[in-house]
Amino acid sequence: MKSSWKALFVIIGIVAMLLSACTTESQLPASDETIETSTVEEPKSEEEPIQENKFICSLTGIGVEDETETKYRPIAVMIDNEVSARPQSGLSAADIVYEMPVEGNITRYMAIYHHGASEKIGPVRSARPYFIDKALEYGSIYVHCGGSPQALKDIKDLRIDAFNDLVGTPVFWRSTDRKMPHNLYTNTRLMREVSSSKKLENKTAPQYFRFNNDFVVPDGGNGQNIVINYDKNYKVSYVYNEQEKVYYRKINGDNMKDKETKEDVKTTNIIIEKVGLKVIDKVGRLEVSNITKNRGYLITGGKLIEIEWSKTSRNGKTIYKNMNGEEIIINKGVTWIQIVPEYVKIGFGE
Ligand SMILES: [Zn+2]
Repeated sequence: MKSSWKALFVIIGIVAMLLSACTTESQLPASDETIETSTVEEPKSEEEPIQENKFICSLTGIGVEDETETKYRPIAVMIDNEVSARPQSGLSAADIVYEMPVEGNITRYMAIYHHGASEKIGPVRSARPYFIDKALEYGSIYVHCGGSPQALKDIKDLRIDAFNDLVGTPVFWRSTDRKMPHNLYTNTRLMREVSSSKKLENKTAPQYFRFNNDFVVPDGGNGQNIVINYDKNYKVSYVYNEQEKVYYRKINGDNMKDKETKEDVKTTNIIIEKVGLKVIDKVGRLEVSNITKNRGYLITGGKLIEIEWSKTSRNGKTIYKNMNGEEIIINKGVTWIQIVPEYVKIGFGE
């Protein structure tokens, strides 16, 4: 009798262990994120099929109505950020926006357009090689007006699909309310039309980030207010809005607004990449150390965590990892990526 009871307890123990192992395993993908597991996992609950029917933008993680919007090829547009170019138009329609230094103690933007539409984008400015390095990561069409000698050589040598106003691609116009070179504009409709007619819609957007299923406030330091002192005359800051779960963007202390819609420019995620910088010619053009690894920050949900970014080749994707070596998972929404020289002071706090 005694020994059979013992045997029964052992069996119960084993069954309990197996059950707990199964539970842990099946819970893992759900708490992580959907994209990687959706092909292997069979629907287990009523929620699963609903997720499968959603069309998800791979650059923002946002669900969109029309599947064709998720199939668009990304378009990277170089946007002027000199004083005469502000306020800019159409930045809010981009999925991802980069800001990087250029000669003249100022920065330039490169906005990645995908499912969003805008009737006016610009002012469009010239190409730089280190922006091309990022545009290549998306397989994007690169949109610019001229460029540095190296950038123009790169576009030719690497056979990059590009729309350049200086060679007359019919996607641009000059506005009359601003002076050259701060008055060149484009829009998503014209760019998509030319892209289709030139048969360039042959690439779709990569799965650029991993996204949290539900909004996650990271376990990090205080990231309610971020100040990036690019130059004594140029300061970018972000202020977190707890209700909207987004950051409002400011230039020299004033809210950044779209020239056309007058709406505030906002973002869900901010990534800061620290970089080495070198002046390479008499004009003051820069070389940015972006094919290497360095530190940075992920800022979302009012918190910030330290990260390490790495990039091993010009078209290789930049990988962002937390300090435990795990790839970061960001919140669904727009991301602004700030490329910041190591010497630039960054302020954090409430
Ligand atoms: Zn998109």
